[in-house]
Amino acid sequence: EEASGNPQGVLYLKLSAHGTALSQMILSGFGYTRRLLEHLQRGVDWDGCGVLQLAFSAKEAERQAQLSEAFAEDLLHVLDQPQAEARSGIGLACGGLFYPQGGWVHPPALCRWQASAPKIEVQAHHEVLELRRIDGQWQAWDGERCLASAPVVILASAAEIKRFDAAADLPLKRIRGQITRLSQTAHSQALRTVVCAEGYVAPARLGEHTLGASFDFKNDDLTPTAAEHAGNLQMLEQISADLVERLDASTLDPAHLQGRAAFRCTSPDYLPIVGPLAESQAFTQAYSALSKDARQVPDCPCPWLDGLYINSGHGSRGLITAPLSGELIAAWLDNEPLPLPRSVAEACHPNRFALRALVRGKA
Ligand SMILES: Cc1cc2nc3c(=O)[nH]c(=O)nc-3n(C[C@H](O)[C@H](O)[C@H](O)COP(=O)(O)OP(=O)(O)OC[C@H]3O[C@@H](n4cnc5c(N)ncnc54)[C@H](O)[C@@H]3O)c2cc1C
Repeated sequence: EEASGNPQGVLYLKLSAHGTALSQMILSGFGYTRRLLEHLQRGVDWDGCGVLQLAFSAKEAERQAQLSEAFAEDLLHVLDQPQAEARSGIGLACGGLFYPQGGWVHPPALCRWQASAPKIEVQAHHEVLELRRIDGQWQAWDGERCLASAPVVILASAAEIKRFDAAADLPLKRIRGQITRLSQTAHSQALRTVVCAEGYVAPARLGEHTLGASFDFKNDDLTPTAAEHAGNLQMLEQISADLVERLDASTLDPAHLQGRAAFRCTSPDYLPIVGPLAESQAFTQAYSALSKDARQVPDCPCPWLDGLYINSGHGSRGLITAPLSGELIAAWLDNEPLPLPRSVAEACHPNRFALRALVRGKA
């Protein structure tokens, strides 16, 4: 729930025209999250106002043309510049790709709704420092106290899962991001859809627009900085000079803007990491034959860490991929049909990195 201070997260749909696992995951996750949002209060918790991705460069325009040929019109379609202006309600330099079912969501509202299911007990502000495996149970300890104990544990603490020995080898990276909150003006109320270029800006929620989000690969500090507010304002200029004017954004001093910074958590192949995990050394030993011949199918059981599951690596699109990943884990646990094609579930499997390392002879 790191995004919980982010008032508006965008339902990201940056698809590729080819049927890759990533696109399938995004499409399925989008449908799933979108249906979840119907339970929330429209206008306050979320809005399905549509997302307009501007064709801000020749390369992006070409990508969008390919996408519009590959996907159904009710999912996405190209708008020329006058159509894009009419849809978004603001002046724009170009057209773009419109996702009519996209929109924004207030992440805490989504988290709260999901956590309101019966049998869920939330223990806020408790840090798990240690996992212990005792008598077939996983125990989560905060140092002195056992916070919870169960046969199954799901590590869902983004890059912090690496703190635990079992997950320490997973190749997760933290990327800091910052959003900027901009007060709505009489003129900015004209904005009717989310509009994205390199960054994004959403229609006002409770009197504020969310503008985001910077990428910083070096900074480990989560104090919002004026420099990144300035960077976000530059992204706003790329989106719409008209909106800059409507928001009086050129008169705003970045040093006095409000916002929030947090870490995204990405994997090297940009797919989330979802599913059961094997014990790393035992895995390498059990399947060592693969390092000599990748075509072998070793006939030995996988040394699973019994009852330990991962749900992490959601990068910049956790609102799309995280809820469905929870369903995927639930299906595995209950022996139910998977909510995603098997190939997509396998592409997201936590063991994929250990397997690739073996096959490339690097284990
Ligand atoms: C600035 C910014 C803007 C973003 N915008 C969007 C967007 O528009 N659309 C979108 O889809 N995504 C967006 N994202 C990405 C999105 O926020 C993430 O993909 C999503 O939050 C991932 O969810 P998660 O539950 O895996 O991890 P997180 O949301 O990071 O949650 C992990 C939780 O684990 C807790 N935790 C960590 N360690 C421990 C421990 N030891 N014990 C107990 N708890 C622990 C943390 O406190 C945190 O609450 C944005 C991210 C950032 C930083």
